[in-house]
Amino acid sequence: MSPAPRVLLSIDYEPWFALFRHYDALSDPHQRRDLDGGFTLHAIDPILEQLGDSKASIYLVGEIAEWYPDVPQKIVSAGHELGLHCHIHRPLVNVNELAEDIRASSAWCKQYGVRGYRAPMVGISESAYQLLSDNGFAYSSSIYAPTGTLLQKGNVWEIPVSTLRMRGDNEVYTAPRDFSFKLLLNGEFPYGSSFSIGLLGRQILRIIESELKRGCSPAIILHPYELVRPPASNRLTRDVILNPLLIPFLRDKSGFLKNLLKSFPVSPLGTYLDEMLAAQGARNV
Ligand SMILES: [Zn+2]
Repeated sequence: MSPAPRVLLSIDYEPWFALFRHYDALSDPHQRRDLDGGFTLHAIDPILEQLGDSKASIYLVGEIAEWYPDVPQKIVSAGHELGLHCHIHRPLVNVNELAEDIRASSAWCKQYGVRGYRAPMVGISESAYQLLSDNGFAYSSSIYAPTGTLLQKGNVWEIPVSTLRMRGDNEVYTAPRDFSFKLLLNGEFPYGSSFSIGLLGRQILRIIESELKRGCSPAIILHPYELVRPPASNRLTRDVILNPLLIPFLRDKSGFLKNLLKSFPVSPLGTYLDEMLAAQGARNV
């Protein structure tokens, strides 16, 4: 029997400035920590409270684990799945850069038995899967594809962030897969992205409901700065004014999360994968 459909809820736990590409090159760890201003430490308790008894996958940016070792500890103690988002948030498609980045987070990943990975910007390369396998990861959730797609890449599973095909569906999906404007024009809508949730809110809940009814488990992403407001600063105001397209990312989604948790069953991605593999194993006996 296939696992019961549920929402595969994930939070990419990153500093607010991860949204803005001009901070990517900022390499001084003290400056990066100062820029975060304690936000990622102070947001964790209210977010765990918002989640209540529901369990999610929380993909942590490694530099936060370095600044505040309490954060991964709190996530695990509250019963959530702790995963890796990357060590320093920036596009990480080059495999050598990715190898170095994973190495930088390897201590806490090992300490907590991390086995799930979400690539920053949901962008991954072919060679990354072998690297993830070599580093003990069981799965990645680093592409967009229609809900229900589950792909095997060597020893690593790929559980895509959800899209909805609005017309035709005879395509074979493979990883890696870059989500481009062309896919959108082809009628594929990435409703699992928090950008889409920021734009459409309640309509996304309706899509989720219909996906669950047809037996699929939608995978969606939220961010800490969408659930707890980062402290207002001139810098943040300026960054938003200069990047108005990012506004849907900063829209408050705590109401969305509340409705989601009230209406639907949720689980971490890792739990879902275990159930899927157990069901497949049972079928093969
Ligand atoms: Zn991210």
